[in-house]
Amino acid sequence: MDISQALSALEALSSSTSTSSSGPLNALIDIHFNNAKSRILAGEDPKVVITELQKNVKTCKKDVEKGLKAWYGALGNVGKEVDRAFPPNLGAISEALSDPPLFSSPEASQALDGVILESLGRRGIWEAVEAMEEETSQSYSRSKRDLSSELQYIIESIKSSNLQPALQWCETNSRFLSSPPHPSSLPYHLHETVFKSINNQQDAIKYARSNMMGYVPSQPVLKLITSCLYDSSNSISSSTNGFGMNGSGMKGKLMNGKIIEDLNEAKEREKLEKLNELQKMFQSEFCRLHQWSKEDSLEVTVELGSRGGTLDKIEKARRVMGEHLGNVRKWEELPMEVPLPPSRRYHSVFVCPVSKEQATESNPPKMLTCGHVIAEESFNRLLKGGRRSVKCPYCPMETSQSVAQRLYF
Ligand SMILES: [Zn+2]
Repeated sequence: MDISQALSALEALSSSTSTSSSGPLNALIDIHFNNAKSRILAGEDPKVVITELQKNVKTCKKDVEKGLKAWYGALGNVGKEVDRAFPPNLGAISEALSDPPLFSSPEASQALDGVILESLGRRGIWEAVEAMEEETSQSYSRSKRDLSSELQYIIESIKSSNLQPALQWCETNSRFLSSPPHPSSLPYHLHETVFKSINNQQDAIKYARSNMMGYVPSQPVLKLITSCLYDSSNSISSSTNGFGMNGSGMKGKLMNGKIIEDLNEAKEREKLEKLNELQKMFQSEFCRLHQWSKEDSLEVTVELGSRGGTLDKIEKARRVMGEHLGNVRKWEELPMEVPLPPSRRYHSVFVCPVSKEQATESNPPKMLTCGHVIAEESFNRLLKGGRRSVKCPYCPMETSQSVAQRLYF
């Protein structure tokens, strides 16, 4: 569980009537008390009615207590996750850097405010953006605000299964999305999701015909269309109805019901995963178009420092090496290695194993038939003397000039 999961669990509790204390209390007042009152007024024995009411009050008290217990549990989890997300010795670390104190120079504090404002704006938390603007005299530009609102709106629409705004966006930016070297597969995946959500086979095929044929060369469109002919989930559900109607016994009905339930559950899970994936894909393309960083830089920094363990590593080194570590502020790079997850490794570079030069746009990496990779200049050098193919410098395989593939890092 991480902080956001703990928070969602807490939010889920607040929206569920079974765990909120107001649910059972309202039931007690609205139903049980009124019921008792009208029964007494109607002439029933008050002793019986009151005893019953007492029982109901007791049950309600238990329900409220149960709800509260869940609340305290969830609240405790949030606290625990917050503590876990930050190194336990944060105090000692910041003390070690207290001369001069962090973010005390005007430039540093302005930069910090700027990063926070950027992060709030990117998430579309406008109340906080306005408060921040008032307090810092910095401002989040109108154009960025519009873009961020558009991003939030489309992401929220995808979340609630409405793919139309995202499709519209793809249509407007189709030229950008289809341009090399990295044509985007986002529009295809959006259409694929719409296609799968259409229950009627004929309609689905019609949709694919008018929207997806352009993706045939690069995506498995035909496979997708034919697969819907084999999807028997519709026929299963209709046959169960028949099954139940024929009255072929309780057991058969239950078993089929269970299968359908499982099927539906699996489908629902798959749909949620796909929507999640689409949100990420959309955000990535949107940021690429507007040349925004793919992720919120404040979030990345905080995560690497806290859970990524960087601060812990620095603190450990400081304790072991003391003065020898030098002034942290003067480091140009970390004096120790911090292992990062693959998603946090940026600026991958390729160094040609032949020329030992770093690959560039004009000297890109090329992959040979055998899978070995060298820089284009090295490849061309090996081609000299009128040869049409190159012998790999690392294995006996030959690669002809035309099949060497350019790689993108
Ligand atoms: Zn090779």
